[in-house]
Amino acid sequence: MTESTLIQRWQHVQSNMGDAQLVAVSKYTSDTNIETLLEAGHLDFGEAKPQNLRDRAQKYPQAHWHMIGPLQKNKAKYIGRFAYMWHSCCDIEAAKEVAKHIEGRRLPVFVQVNISGEPQKQGIQPDDVLLFLQKLDLIKELEVIGLMGMAAKGGGAKVAFSLLRQCRDAAIGQYPHVQGLCMGMSNDWRIAIEEGATMIRVGSEIFGQD
Ligand SMILES: *Cc1c(COP(=O)(O)O)cnc(C)c1O
Repeated sequence: MTESTLIQRWQHVQSNMGDAQLVAVSKYTSDTNIETLLEAGHLDFGEAKPQNLRDRAQKYPQAHWHMIGPLQKNKAKYIGRFAYMWHSCCDIEAAKEVAKHIEGRRLPVFVQVNISGEPQKQGIQPDDVLLFLQKLDLIKELEVIGLMGMAAKGGGAKVAFSLLRQCRDAAIGQYPHVQGLCMGMSNDWRIAIEEGATMIRVGSEIFGQD
């Protein structure tokens, strides 16, 4: 893809997402494409593997590196040290481990909720959100700023995103910082925006399938 095509694709998403924020998911793309967007003024990138996040955060410390994938406890140190934000928090032991490696700041966190009903998907169950928030509240290094969810590939995005919004609305009275809704990927971010997403994570629609 040429630089100008990449920038057009990025701008197309930006100009259709209202006030939401965009995390450009760079997990499959080249450093060259990241550099193109950085030069165009984009700062927020998402990585799904802790080692890749660490490597890119060291290479491009001026950018914001968002951790969006599953996390094993033994890789938690990379997230504590290098992530700007952690979107896929759904395990209390991993959260404690991440917290051990945070120095001099609080790490903003989204709690990942399984809103698609697929058993193989990551995330806590919608009914367990309040209990999980109560446990996370004790980890002072983490600041929960919202909920994150993914719709099933096959569809049902509207119902799934509306469920995440209901979970957020149910939590916000007790946990006023839990305001954000991080939802929507390449094939469903428009629906996510309609359902109130405050942040979307888009990869292939910007970077292509390379
Ligand atoms: C890969 C990934 C995305 C982006 O997916 P696209 O369909 O390429 O936009 C978003 N969120 C998570 C958690 C991902 O792993």
